[in-house]
Amino acid sequence: MKGKVFLVGAGPGDPELLTVKALRLLQAAQVVLHDDLISSEILALIPSSAEVRNVGKRCGRNSTPQDEINSLLITFASFGLKVVRLKGGDPSVFGRAGEEMEALRKAGVEFEVVPGVTSALASAAAAQISLTQRDKASAVIFLTSHHANPKETVSWQAFVSSGATLAIYMPGFNYEHTASQLMAAGLRGETACAIISRASSRDQQVHRTTVRDLPGAPVLPAPTLLLVGDVVRAEQLAATSFEPWNLATEPLPQAPVEHELLIERALTGD
Ligand code: SAH
Repeated sequence: MKGKVFLVGAGPGDPELLTVKALRLLQAAQVVLHDDLISSEILALIPSSAEVRNVGKRCGRNSTPQDEINSLLITFASFGLKVVRLKGGDPSVFGRAGEEMEALRKAGVEFEVVPGVTSALASAAAAQISLTQRDKASAVIFLTSHHANPKETVSWQAFVSSGATLAIYMPGFNYEHTASQLMAAGLRGETACAIISRASSRDQQVHRTTVRDLPGAPVLPAPTLLLVGDVVRAEQLAATSFEPWNLATEPLPQAPVEHELLIERALTGD
């Protein structure tokens, strides 16, 4: 049997946000190499017969070097195994999928990419923000202020002048620096922004502020994402945190009778 690697997006954390394809692959996986940010509820879906390894690379913690991850993928697949490389969010967004695909291509290993819900989208959902909105923003930029290569600089000016909503991944906690970079690039201090912590999880939190007041924002639990732009302002609701609906804790009602009656009443205006 020929081996294959599946680069699978696990989404932002809530297992309900896995794609059906990701779920099926996890349930049938023989080998899973996963990142640090994968929730325990998602890892629980993997059969116990599978070889599961955390190859995460979180700042400050021991991590598996990229070369070693590449060679593990190639080795397992060349023994005919179906290997799931599970990454948080979407594999192609700040996920180093490019390096892994290049190594697999070079080694002649078949692979497939299964997209996932990237955390910018989950964060917008958590904060009930529309990333694009007529008259407010007609584009979204996914960027990070944290670079693997320190020589690379962030093109704040280009990003700010585009007028796009900015979804800043790995924003870190030096909000003062981020705010001053944004304002130095020409962004108005009163531009709205929101820090979203652990989007899609039960303890997700949203802190709304302005770019000027960003340095005074609280340090929320990681992972966090920063959304910046006029779309964040919207008609703000009081709720800053709520529990996402989850099939596991709140199953769908079984009996159709009641809702059919309600639909009938809604349609007839009774
Ligand atoms: N491939 C991932 C991003 C990996 S980089 C994706 O598509 O989402 C890791 C960064 O993603 C974190 O530092 C944080 O900025 C963001 N992130 C991941 N999960 C998140 C979550 N549940 N809530 C908020 N931000 C998250």
